[in-house]
Amino acid sequence: MQAEIISIGTELLLGHIVNTNTAFLSQKLAENGIDVYHTSVVGDNPSRLMQSLKLALGRADVIITTGGLGPTVDDITTETIANFLGRKLILNRAILNGLKRYFISRKVRYPKDNIRQALIPEGTKWIPNRTGTAPGLLTEYNGKVIICLPGPPRELGPMFENDIMPYLKKRAGTSQKILSRTIKLMGLPESRVNGIAKDLLLLKPPVTVGIYAKLGEVDLRIMAKIADKNAADREIKRVENKIKARLKDYIFGYDDDTMEGSVGKALAARKKTIAIAESCTGGLVSSRLTDVSGSSKYFMMGITAYSNDIKERILGVSRKLIRQRGAVSKEVAIEMARGARFLACTDIGIGITGIAGPDGGTRSKPVGLVYIALATAKKSIVKECRFKGSREEIKFQASQAALDLARKNI
Ligand code: ATP
Ligand code: MG
Repeated sequence: MQAEIISIGTELLLGHIVNTNTAFLSQKLAENGIDVYHTSVVGDNPSRLMQSLKLALGRADVIITTGGLGPTVDDITTETIANFLGRKLILNRAILNGLKRYFISRKVRYPKDNIRQALIPEGTKWIPNRTGTAPGLLTEYNGKVIICLPGPPRELGPMFENDIMPYLKKRAGTSQKILSRTIKLMGLPESRVNGIAKDLLLLKPPVTVGIYAKLGEVDLRIMAKIADKNAADREIKRVENKIKARLKDYIFGYDDDTMEGSVGKALAARKKTIAIAESCTGGLVSSRLTDVSGSSKYFMMGITAYSNDIKERILGVSRKLIRQRGAVSKEVAIEMARGARFLACTDIGIGITGIAGPDGGTRSKPVGLVYIALATAKKSIVKECRFKGSREEIKFQASQAALDLARKNI
């Protein structure tokens, strides 16, 4: 069974809102083994919506539209669907009574314009909206189905999960699902991962692997589209083991894991504590570590030592060193890490100093140059990184690299 999504709304075309509905629906459909080969966005314009419907019906079995079901003049979905199907709009008493109850229970006078939401094309099923007013619509048409869902995500989500997905599953007549496993990597560029996993990236269904480069992270996603869940699990495990064998050192997590979560897990498991002294990341590493609930067990202190004076007076970095080597240097990063560790009496100290840009770079110390140091009782190590991107992107990548350095040395 193939589905196609049409998002309706001029504000989507103008980029005023982000099309999260399509992302949500695509994900849910994929998880349930329903193929989506096309999605589109169209403005609040009846004739262009007609064109989109025609195109979609020519190639998919299920058409899902989102938006434009409300009571305002720019909400054209219901009327256009009726025209498209060549059916009359009729007043549905049950919907109307439901709308009246909705407003009475909220102690607001029933707005006349909302009557429009009780008009639906003849022969159309309607789906109650438990979190808003506009009912959804479902029409079977020439062996295909057209489903219309409201635009607000908090209305569309529950309606889709409670009513539409069960209907589609029954209609598809299979219990086929897509299972997936995401393997999160750090420390190798996408091109290197691509080279190492090339044969796996070329796998053909039912098991496939995709590669996704994100800021400071590369993901490999294994997907299996197999009716038998155990068989799917087995197939995924088989590919996962191959990836692990080749890229073990770079894996920091799976599925919903985050880098800060993985660092936290490792610290908690080994009962180690950490303190951070950061300059160019402005507290981002500390902030990310404290995004994890339970972080008070291992995160002891974060200092944003932005000025040289604070680096000297609080962290104990020597003035001479800063003068000789510069604040952005290997040596200062190490002193910062040691200073943090000493101040907070932790097992691990991290020091970060660099140039986030866009100004302040020189030929020998360009924007994006960041030194990240780690100090323990036994050793001090420092990494020189050269990041590219905007100020925010450089800060994020530096925080990611600092957390990864910690993770590898806990
Ligand atoms: P309403 O009854 O609220 O008017 P509606 O079904 O008519 O609902 P729209 O008017 O098209 O839907 O959109 C209402 C709001 O829903 C938008 O302002 C936006 O906040 C949100 N929305 C609509 N479409 C999307 C989408 N594709 N992705 C994310 N949000 C959306
Ligand atoms: Mg609307």
